[in-house]
Amino acid sequence: MSTIITSPINVLAISGGIGGAKLALGLDRILAEDKLAVLCNTGDDFEHLGLHISPDVDTVMYTLAGIANPETGWGREGETWSFMRSLEALGGETWFQLGDKDLAIHVERTRRLRHGEALTSIVADFALRLGVQARLLPMSDQPVRTMVKTDEGTLPFQRYFVERRCVPSVQGFSFDGVDEAHPPDGLTQLLQSNHLEAIIICPSNPFVSIDPILAVPGMREALSASPVPVVAVSPIIGGKAVKGPTAKMMIELGMPTTSKAVAEHYHGLLSGFVLDESDADQVKSFDLPCLVTPTLMNSEADKRRLASEVLDFARDLAT
Ligand code: GDP
Repeated sequence: MSTIITSPINVLAISGGIGGAKLALGLDRILAEDKLAVLCNTGDDFEHLGLHISPDVDTVMYTLAGIANPETGWGREGETWSFMRSLEALGGETWFQLGDKDLAIHVERTRRLRHGEALTSIVADFALRLGVQARLLPMSDQPVRTMVKTDEGTLPFQRYFVERRCVPSVQGFSFDGVDEAHPPDGLTQLLQSNHLEAIIICPSNPFVSIDPILAVPGMREALSASPVPVVAVSPIIGGKAVKGPTAKMMIELGMPTTSKAVAEHYHGLLSGFVLDESDADQVKSFDLPCLVTPTLMNSEADKRRLASEVLDFARDLAT
């Protein structure tokens, strides 16, 4: 069974996990029902304890369903940890935290994948059951695994990110399996649809959240061929990442930790760029239209306001 896009989508958001999910939530809450699709990174997916885990897809799904843990940004609110404690008592692997409620999604996803169902179909069904209005589109049904080249050797993404807490110095990335991957069913039609108004690259980690999506063969071309504006929101504010290793990676890769460097990283894809007011002095160095506005999203009001400003900016670019 493939994902069926049943009603016209107006906005496609491209997202990793926590940063991307914040803007996706804002877009979801300001758009009418069924008008948002979120293309999610699955390069972070991995097999653990025999289960298929999709961290970024689940973060976006839990966030839009209103059941995410507000403190961590990942996992579920009101979580309990009996499984983890029992596993620890048995000497099992505990470096990757799986809460009791969260565990259910991994068990059920794994069962359905083993029965031959496509990830896009499973995610669409889970989203429906959890009351998510937006269409969640994993970037591909074929497995793609982000590998991080570091000074300690090449590490699978979750070993680098969770187990080693991003300590090793990054030298580059590769996406295992990506040559065999295809964009999800229906995405090309969505990108060419007359109803689509904008493609928004959320403020996610460019290297390990957005690049795996862009690396799927045909994806970059399909996005570029869409007639609508492509606007990216910077994940860097005042030379720092709000959370996570984006700025650390930029330093290790020899890049300046600026919004300008993020925009240059997306070279050739963007119609416009959104950067924080604290980085306003960089605007004169841009050769594409910019929107300067507060981009730190703490409250739901922040997320809605930024989503609305980004959409207005994209609509202005289209005219
Ligand atoms: P992950 O997959 O869970 O690491 O999440 P993402 O890749 O989607 O998001 C990580 C990025 O989100 C980091 O680079 C953060 O700087 C950025 N980020 C998080 N919160 C915010 C915010 O409120 N505003 C902006 N502009 N960026 C944010």
